[in-house]
Amino acid sequence: MAYLGNSARTKEVLARYNMSAKKKFGQNFLIDGNVLEEIVEAAGITDKDCVLEIGPGIGSLTQYLAEAAERVVAVEIDKTLLPVLDDTLSEYDNVTIINNDVLKVDIDGIVEEYNEGRPIKVVANLPYYITTPIIMKLFESGALIESITVMVQKEVADRMAAGPGNKDYGSLSLAVGFYAEAHTVMDVPPSSFIPQPNVGSAVVRLTRYTEPKVRVRDSGYLFEIIRTSFNQRRKTLSNSLSNNASLGVSRDDVTRALVSMGIDERARGETLTLEQFAELSDILQS
Ligand code: SAM
Repeated sequence: MAYLGNSARTKEVLARYNMSAKKKFGQNFLIDGNVLEEIVEAAGITDKDCVLEIGPGIGSLTQYLAEAAERVVAVEIDKTLLPVLDDTLSEYDNVTIINNDVLKVDIDGIVEEYNEGRPIKVVANLPYYITTPIIMKLFESGALIESITVMVQKEVADRMAAGPGNKDYGSLSLAVGFYAEAHTVMDVPPSSFIPQPNVGSAVVRLTRYTEPKVRVRDSGYLFEIIRTSFNQRRKTLSNSLSNNASLGVSRDDVTRALVSMGIDERARGETLTLEQFAELSDILQS
């Protein structure tokens, strides 16, 4: 089987199965061999690795992964793609396709079943409409995941990798930063896909910390503080946090906590680091 990662072969396969890309599943197939190679390279896949791919589509990235890895487990929601994948991956005996919604599968169970509980690497050209829920599910599942190397919207890659003071800094930067170090590998233009998405894309690699970056008594409370701070971005922390009853704090509580940390009492969330949010969370909860 010749590689699918080009325009002619992709169109030919879609035509043979009388298919077109489904918008509702975020289908934009990669047709750029260089980008496919770079993704596998950035993920550092070796022949000892078990890779979890999300959304194999017609198998363009899966082919490259199957060549490089020991095993590939790919979760695809669209059952009409199963006969296509049977065909395009027929040369590989190390690929398992699971027909399911990735948001419903037991990630930990996959790690146990297919890699005997050893850490896996996640690689994907993600469906953009559910990028954040997928990333958060992967992190929060507690499954042993060494790294996540994914194609996402450029704007989302920028938000993942942003630090305090940057216009893209927000709850996604902090949530990702709690679990992993984010690094943008490359920008990818719309012309690398069929059909072309109407936004720019980027490949981002999230390398998971062995321990979360900060120690915090209650990470659920920390994330609620972070979400609240950025929901009302223009408000001071004292105003926004005291407005959220579920946090159970008054304006004065927040002001006192900030002052005790040496932070301006009129500070907004966008100026605080993850470490400062963690300290604030512990103080407000005590
Ligand atoms: N990997 C292929 C490629 O690079 O050409 C296809 C990538 S396409 C951007 C996203 C893929 O994710 C599609 O195959 C789509 O059907 C699949 N998908 C969408 N939502 C999904 C979900 N909830 N669970 C699993 N797969 C999903």
